[in-house]
Amino acid sequence: MAVILKSIEEIKGFLKVLESGLRVGGGRDNLGLGEVENPILRHPITRWPYVPGSSIKGKLRALLELRDCPSTQSDGRPCVCGECDVCLLFGCADSKKSRSPTRLLFRDCQPTEETTALWMSLGIDSEVKNEIIVDRRSGFSSSRFTHRLAERLPAGSDFNFSFSLRIFDGDESARFFNYLADGLDLIEKDYLGAYGSRGFGHVKFTDENDRPLSALLRQMAGQLTFPKEGGL
Ligand SMILES: [Zn+2]
Repeated sequence: MAVILKSIEEIKGFLKVLESGLRVGGGRDNLGLGEVENPILRHPITRWPYVPGSSIKGKLRALLELRDCPSTQSDGRPCVCGECDVCLLFGCADSKKSRSPTRLLFRDCQPTEETTALWMSLGIDSEVKNEIIVDRRSGFSSSRFTHRLAERLPAGSDFNFSFSLRIFDGDESARFFNYLADGLDLIEKDYLGAYGSRGFGHVKFTDENDRPLSALLRQMAGQLTFPKEGGL
């Protein structure tokens, strides 16, 4: 059956780094002791740090697979069933099972003007966190191999966040909006980027009125399910 594009919905909001820093980008999750972390990603022209859209898309998919796709937890690979909401929204790597193009497209998140103004006034746009590993016998960090350096985006930084959702003919778009709202809620309860177990990556997604972006998505889903004049 031919796939016909009905509309492309663009959702805009903000990604806010809460009380701990955010480590995203090209770095490795498992560093050797004393090894310096790769620097965070920066825009090639402005040189401001940014959050890659692929980091958000990947985390969103991984958390939804963790909840809804048991097969991914046994083989560690992305779901390729071609039928579940994860495959429909994020894409299916198996071309034989794929029924349609990927529906989701995430933009890179650039810092807001308020955040770049704040960074300029403070003279910083990132933080290098020095982490110490304690010798279990002495209780001290006594070796030169006991430090890890992790560059991260500072807490209190805000980024513009947006993604597009392709709606094809026959799609239950309200279900997709609700599913994505679930995914954003999961990231807020989990973490984004690296080192989540050590407190990094606590974020929230908001709309332009500082309300949870997931609430906006659920409201949009409701308006798709029921006519607007129905009292929503
Ligand atoms: Zn699937």
